[in-house]
Amino acid sequence: MADVTVIGAGVAGLTCALALAERGASVEVIDRGERLGAEACSWYAGGMLAPWCERESAEPLVAELGEEAIDYWAERVPGVMRKGTLVVAPARDVPDLARFARRTERFGWVDGERIATLEPDLAGRFSKGLFFSEEGHLDPRDALDALSEALARQGISIRFGVEVENEAPSSPTIVDCRGFGARDALPDLRGVKGEMVLVRTKDVTLSRPVRLLHPRHPVYIVPRDDGLFMIGATMIESSERGRVTARAMLELLGAAYAVHPAFAEAEIIEIGADVRPAFPDNLPRISRRGRTFHVNGLFRHGFLLAPALARRVAATVLHGTHYPEVMDEDQLQR
Ligand SMILES: Cc1cc2nc3c(=O)[nH]c(=O)nc-3n(C[C@H](O)[C@H](O)[C@H](O)COP(=O)(O)OP(=O)(O)OC[C@H]3O[C@@H](n4cnc5c(N)ncnc54)[C@H](O)[C@@H]3O)c2cc1C
Repeated sequence: MADVTVIGAGVAGLTCALALAERGASVEVIDRGERLGAEACSWYAGGMLAPWCERESAEPLVAELGEEAIDYWAERVPGVMRKGTLVVAPARDVPDLARFARRTERFGWVDGERIATLEPDLAGRFSKGLFFSEEGHLDPRDALDALSEALARQGISIRFGVEVENEAPSSPTIVDCRGFGARDALPDLRGVKGEMVLVRTKDVTLSRPVRLLHPRHPVYIVPRDDGLFMIGATMIESSERGRVTARAMLELLGAAYAVHPAFAEAEIIEIGADVRPAFPDNLPRISRRGRTFHVNGLFRHGFLLAPALARRVAATVLHGTHYPEVMDEDQLQR
């Protein structure tokens, strides 16, 4: 029997399982999907590691926890990029850049010439922007693969196709990382639907995520290998998984076209959507009920926050360490 059963092989579950295993616990991981990512919101993420940009709409805790993410991923996943984030706006929305700048930190203002140096394909398209030089990005699917391989090296294979409701774990400790699937146990968890589209073109080259500010539809484009670009993402208060609307595609593809018209000829490779798990304050939370620790509420910051949360979960489970900033006092029932 394992010391700990981790339920869920999304980014939260895999990072927690690895943190526990690396500290000597015997761990098993179960997931209801048929394969890695099949039922995980993590599969659809953009993979931006942008703690300072995210301050635009997130509490300081998100940047604080997120600061360790780039180093964590760079040690474990090939191809993690540290090329920063470029934020631009069409001429009519330049005041939005000033608003974005007031809410964020660790950036520099860039003019059209500097934008062209950073991203030659955007030469002449934007006259002002913000450059967050310390940020990074990764391919989330590569990251999930790398975590699953790291677990395999520790002798842990993920048991897929196992729904916890049908097979109650017998281990003394459970770490529940079911994302939105844990709503039965965490009633204040809500879903925030995100839709994305993956396109391929050889006619645009970008080195880093580009965020386009827009009063209603802010959009980002994250470059991946082999001419692929992830364009995301909508933010809709909804628990509906999977259904992608025409409106979302109009907004996402329209914004990509505004960044560079060559996106009009890009091939659509995939469209997708899933539900980000979020608490009312949009902050992550570790809570405990009996032998079960819940790790949830990663909202739009799963890859950014998971490393810091996993480290805390391992210290809490193995040594009883208490982290007031992410632990919910009301639910800490022993
Ligand atoms: C379009 C989009 C773009 C995003 N972009 C970014 C980004 O750029 N950067 C970033 O940091 N974050 C991003 N996010 C957010 C990020 O994807 C989420 O915060 C993260 O995926 C949440 O991870 P999780 O492990 O909690 O949940 P999930 O990834 O959903 O994993 C939960 C797992 O639990 C399993 N499960 C559920 N119920 C059961 C059950 N009953 N029994 C067994 N297994 C079960 C599921 O099969 C699933 O594999 C984005 C999200 C979306 C939708």
